[in-house]
Amino acid sequence: MAAIGAVGIVAVGLGLMAMALGIPRVETFLLVFVLLVGAIGWRLGRGPAIAATVAFALISDYFFLPPRAGFGIATVSDVVRLGTGILAAAAVIQFVHVSRRQQILLEKRKDLLQDVSPRIIESLDAEEILNTVAEATLKVIDYQHFRLYRWDEAAERLVLVKSVARAEPYERTDWYTLKLALGQGITGIAAQTRKSFLIPDVSQDSRMVYPVGTVPMEESILSVPMVTGDRLFGVLSLARLGARSLSTEDLRLMESIAAQTALALANAEQYAAAELTIKALATIEALQPTDAGLPEPEVDRRILQGFVDLSQADLATLRVLQADGRYHVGATGGLHWPADDVPMGAPLSQAQVAWLADPRVTAYVADPESDAKLPEWARRGTELAGIKASVFLPMRAGQRFVGFAGLHWRRPRWLRAEQLRRLQLVAAQAAIALDTRQALGRERGRAEALAELERARREFMQIASHELRTPLTVIRGYASLLEDGSLGEMPPAARQALRTLMDKSTEMRGQVERMLLLARLEDGAGLPQSTEFDLRTVVTDAVDRVRPQVELKQGQLDLKLAATPMTVLGDPERLATAVDNLLQNAVKFSAEPPRIEVTGNRENGRLRLLVRDHGIGIPAAAHARLFEKFYRVSDPELHNVVGTGIGLYLVRQVVESHGGRVDVQSRPGEGSTFEIDLPVAIPGAAPPE
Ligand code: ADP
Repeated sequence: MAAIGAVGIVAVGLGLMAMALGIPRVETFLLVFVLLVGAIGWRLGRGPAIAATVAFALISDYFFLPPRAGFGIATVSDVVRLGTGILAAAAVIQFVHVSRRQQILLEKRKDLLQDVSPRIIESLDAEEILNTVAEATLKVIDYQHFRLYRWDEAAERLVLVKSVARAEPYERTDWYTLKLALGQGITGIAAQTRKSFLIPDVSQDSRMVYPVGTVPMEESILSVPMVTGDRLFGVLSLARLGARSLSTEDLRLMESIAAQTALALANAEQYAAAELTIKALATIEALQPTDAGLPEPEVDRRILQGFVDLSQADLATLRVLQADGRYHVGATGGLHWPADDVPMGAPLSQAQVAWLADPRVTAYVADPESDAKLPEWARRGTELAGIKASVFLPMRAGQRFVGFAGLHWRRPRWLRAEQLRRLQLVAAQAAIALDTRQALGRERGRAEALAELERARREFMQIASHELRTPLTVIRGYASLLEDGSLGEMPPAARQALRTLMDKSTEMRGQVERMLLLARLEDGAGLPQSTEFDLRTVVTDAVDRVRPQVELKQGQLDLKLAATPMTVLGDPERLATAVDNLLQNAVKFSAEPPRIEVTGNRENGRLRLLVRDHGIGIPAAAHARLFEKFYRVSDPELHNVVGTGIGLYLVRQVVESHGGRVDVQSRPGEGSTFEIDLPVAIPGAAPPE
């Protein structure tokens, strides 16, 4: 209705204008009429256009043909004119109808494209993007072969990474063997010029490059470069059998898909780069040589894992410089390392890795098939494993070439500059880890040498104290003969000297005993003797040994022991040394005449021995360290008190080796009480460890 109304108004307007201007020629009107009908057909479709034609015919009859009674067709000429007009209108309507339908179809495909494009953009995984693009493209273009080439920046060539064949002639060919340089083939030209191409019949085009052995066929081809910003990602190519089977509309759609694919790939790449950076950082963190105790193979394995995580290498090996000056395989791995571990390579000499040792080489990217520089051993290995791309990463600590990682892929693979840089970063960190490990090894060697020295020292101490013991016994033997007058009367002055001689030799014997015991304990010797004995005897004897010293200082020593036996299982000699030490300290660290009480009894099923003095006491701060080897309280007043600081250490070692405990209670100026607590011997029981 609107159309007819519009035509009516326009026609009335035109009629009036023609009348006013006196245009007699019907043809002018016919032309305007055809144009108008065409416009209506384009805008509103075929139906309104036909309605408009009928309306025009009636109006023309009324306005433009000479007026007659009734419907105005009278002559043959009228019929011809009207007929021509209607035919012209019909032709225009049909033409408009067809083009409009195409337009609508194209729009529909565009809508479809709108539906699929978010799926292309959404994915962050390059592999997935390629699959989605192949799938989505099929929804809008009925291709028979889809090829997606990626631009390998390192090797400067186009590598086919996705091929989907949907017709027999395409399925027959192994397209993956195709590697195109810029400008090579239609794909190469599209990449070089960054322009898209529609070749209606490739068999007529000499630029087309096929894989070896493929017979050129009659087909249409679309080649569209994928570009974002300035960067070329690759080329999308579609093919369909038959000349002119792909159209310019297809080309436009493909251009849109290619642009989106490039964007998606750029996004995915950025995401992957961020992820890899995080991984690289974690790897570097894990390689920090904090854990000195990590075994060598574990360090190697971790380094290799770091490289594999980062590079997604199919196969990877780590070679490390060993003490023999050769590069040994430290670890192997990778996504496709065979489960039944293949034999490791033999160690490599310096000469065999010289090409990597060159300090100018920071990373070596190789195409094993064509790389002339690759040494024989590397080429042989990569050939055997069917490797298509390799990267060798030297690891240097300062000037030292400590090892290298070989990363290999069985598919065409290239690394972007920043990916390589990331790998180099890990290589640098790995070099530090390896170097630290070697340094630790050297350190360990030094520690072992020190331990050996220490062992020699202990052995010497043991021998020396042993050797001192015998002559000392002889000296003391003669001295006591002199003392008891068996060798005749002595003048009083000599007697006094003899007394001192006896005293000092007692002191010396004590010291020798302590040294001997310390040497034995440090040697890790267990209890040499394990017998049941009465602790009371040991204590009484020790008290008897110290009594002369106490009396010399006009002191007092009280001994109170249980009436019943205090049976202990262990070594009476060592326990005697322990008690001696406590008693001697009690005498030594009393400023005034010593007052010492020794008590021994059974309490709650255990034996308790207390040695109490009223001497100078021990500051609280020193209590915790008192039983450490060589520890002595640092007090200027004690400077002239002789000692070595091993007495209490020995006491604790001996008591603990008997399953007991030693403790102290003391206050400066009030004296000290040392308490030994020992288990009662259970007859027949094994000695405590
Ligand atoms: P040494 O007696 O050879 O110095 P010890 O290991 O027997 O070594 O004793 C360590 C330190 O503990 C002594 O130097 C002394 O300062 C302190 N000490 C030990 N026993 C007593 C005690 N009964 N009274 C005060 N201080 C003591």
